[in-house]
Amino acid sequence: MYPAPFDYHRPDDIADALALLDSHGDDARILAGGFSLIPAMKLRMMQPAHLIDIGGIDILKGVRIENDALSIGAMTTHWEIESSPLVAEWFPALAQAAGVIADAQVRNCGTIGGSLAYSDPSADYPALILALNARLVTISLHGGNVIDAMNWQQGLLTTALEPGEILIDIRFPKPPARTGSAYIKIPHPASRFAVIGVAVSVTLGEDGKARDLRIGVTGTSTTACRALAMEQALEGHNLTRDAVEAASHLADEGIEFNDDQLLSAGDRAYLCRTTAREAVLAAWARARNKASA
Ligand SMILES: Cc1cc2nc3c(=O)[nH]c(=O)nc-3n(C[C@H](O)[C@H](O)[C@H](O)COP(=O)(O)OP(=O)(O)OC[C@H]3O[C@@H](n4cnc5c(N)ncnc54)[C@H](O)[C@@H]3O)c2cc1C
Repeated sequence: MYPAPFDYHRPDDIADALALLDSHGDDARILAGGFSLIPAMKLRMMQPAHLIDIGGIDILKGVRIENDALSIGAMTTHWEIESSPLVAEWFPALAQAAGVIADAQVRNCGTIGGSLAYSDPSADYPALILALNARLVTISLHGGNVIDAMNWQQGLLTTALEPGEILIDIRFPKPPARTGSAYIKIPHPASRFAVIGVAVSVTLGEDGKARDLRIGVTGTSTTACRALAMEQALEGHNLTRDAVEAASHLADEGIEFNDDQLLSAGDRAYLCRTTAREAVLAAWARARNKASA
C-alpha cells in the first residue's frame, strides 16, 4: 500500500516545528525515524496531510549530562544509545535495551523519542523509563511539561503528549553509587519486539540490603507497568537467589496480561515471573560489582 498524499516539511529549529504543528493541528504528524509512522501511513491507519520531519533539529540529538541527570534528546537513535559510553556507565540496562531493539537498520534510524511517543505496548523503552525513574520533557508554543514516567503511557498507543506538543528529551536522574541495572527480554521471534521485557534498577545499601528497587515490565497488555508486589517484597532485604526466587512469584501480581496468537495470558505471566527473577539478580550482581570496584 501507498500512503495517502501529504506535504513534507523539514524545519531547522524547534520554534519552526512548533509553529507548523500549531498551524496544521490534527492534520500534522511529527516524523522522527519513520519506522512506526510510515508503516501506519501505508496501511492508512494514519493519514496526516502534513509531515513535520524533525531530523534537521540538532538540539534534539545526543546524550549529555545536565544538572545531575543524563539527558537523552528525543531524536537520539537506538544505536547512539546502545553505543554511548555515558549510558553504558550510568545505565547499563538502557544500553542493553537499545541493543536488542529489532535489527541494525531500525536501530540506526529509529529514535527513543519516536518509540516513546508511539507507545507500542511491546516496545522496550517503556520498561526502562519506569525502572530508571525518568522524566519526559515536552514543549509547545504555549509552554511545556515535565512528565513522570509513571504517567507517560495512558493506554494503547496513547501518551500524556498533548496536541501541539513535541517530546524533546528524556531525563534519567544520576543513580546513587553502588547502583546496578539490567534489562532482559524475551523477543518476538519475527519482529524482536518484547514478548516480555523486564528492566530493573537497585542500589546496594551500606548495610548490604537492597534499596530503591524498581522493576519495569513491558509486553504485558496495553502499557508497561511496575512489578510493585515483588519490589515491596525485596526492598530492604539481602537479594540472595532464594529470596529473589521466592519474591518472583509476586512479579505478575496486579498486572493484566494479554492473550494473543503467540501466548496465553498465563504463559505471559509465567515469563514475567522468570524474567523478573533473572533481571533482578543481574542488576544486583552489577550493584555488588560497583561496590567492590
Ligand atoms: C521491524 C521492526 C521491528 C521493531 N522492533 C522493535 C523492538 O524490538 N523494540 C522496540 O522497542 N521497538 C521496535 N520497533 C519500533 C522502533 O523502535 C521504532 O523506531 C519506534 O517505534 C518509532 O520510532 P521512530 O523514530 O521510527 O518514530 P516515527 O515512526 O517517526 O514516529 C512514531 C510516532 O511518534 C510521533 N513522534 C515521533 N517523535 C516525536 C516527538 N519527538 N515528539 C512527539 N511525537 C513524536 C510520530 O508523529 C508518530 O506518531 C520495531 C520497528 C520495526 C519496523
